[in-house]
Amino acid sequence: MTIPSLKLGEFHIYWLNGGHFRLDGGTMFGAVPKVLWEKKCIADKKNTIPMCNDVLLVKTPDHNILIDTGIGNKLSDKLLSIFQVTKEWSLITELAEVGLTRADIDLVLLTHCDFDHAGGIVMQSQNKEELSFPNAVHYIQQKEWEDVERPNRRAQSTYWPENFSLLKKKGKLQIISGDREVISGIKLIHTGGHTRGHQMVELCSNGETAVHLGDLYPTHAHTNPLWIMAYDNFPLEVIDRKEEYFNYYQKLDSWFTFYHDHTVKACKLDEQGLVNFSNNDSLIAP
Ligand SMILES: [Zn+2]
Repeated sequence: MTIPSLKLGEFHIYWLNGGHFRLDGGTMFGAVPKVLWEKKCIADKKNTIPMCNDVLLVKTPDHNILIDTGIGNKLSDKLLSIFQVTKEWSLITELAEVGLTRADIDLVLLTHCDFDHAGGIVMQSQNKEELSFPNAVHYIQQKEWEDVERPNRRAQSTYWPENFSLLKKKGKLQIISGDREVISGIKLIHTGGHTRGHQMVELCSNGETAVHLGDLYPTHAHTNPLWIMAYDNFPLEVIDRKEEYFNYYQKLDSWFTFYHDHTVKACKLDEQGLVNFSNNDSLIAP
């Protein structure tokens, strides 16, 4: 199996399997009528659509960095069935395919703490729970961490304590407030919108740029700034941030990378703000 990848200056980006599942199509498109979104995503009889949870590995000359961690391997049979997991988390195996072990990861950048992004922080290994990446410093926004410690009514069902239990204990948590360049060319930017503490990742190397907008831009079908998810906690903020970042990064001819997209791993936007499917140089497909 070939792992999708993109060379960005001196960086190499890989999309690794953090688990596939199916979600209700309506929740993925919020107020957008089904007659419109089903032209882009085909739903099954139960109205669900396929979703990836692609963990991005960014290899730089000196560091191995993960963006988010997938759903992890701690889901019970009941949860695997509720979330219709169609492909289980195989992040460690896929890391091995690019020549890395769990111990080689230096940084884990968490866009936010929903279970589908943070589930792989702690893994089940030989009947005990361990940090999946024992040597990595895990970056989380202050506001996000506050909500992990005191989740609101909505977050209670998606911020699972077992995903964070070992982070503090092992001293591998780095809480930041606002924007931060974590290493040269890799910057975390606080966005809010999807959650209070949601952050995105900007990658720059040798004049080339890629931006990972996390759940602000979950799939290429969400390119219209108004097409947002019912899961977004602050919808108007999401729309504003999308307009701002699409405009800014399109002008830089930046790649936009995806976490949940089943068919496109990264794309560029044209001057009209659209994905040009006839130009293969502007797409990374699996
Ligand atoms: Zn998500």
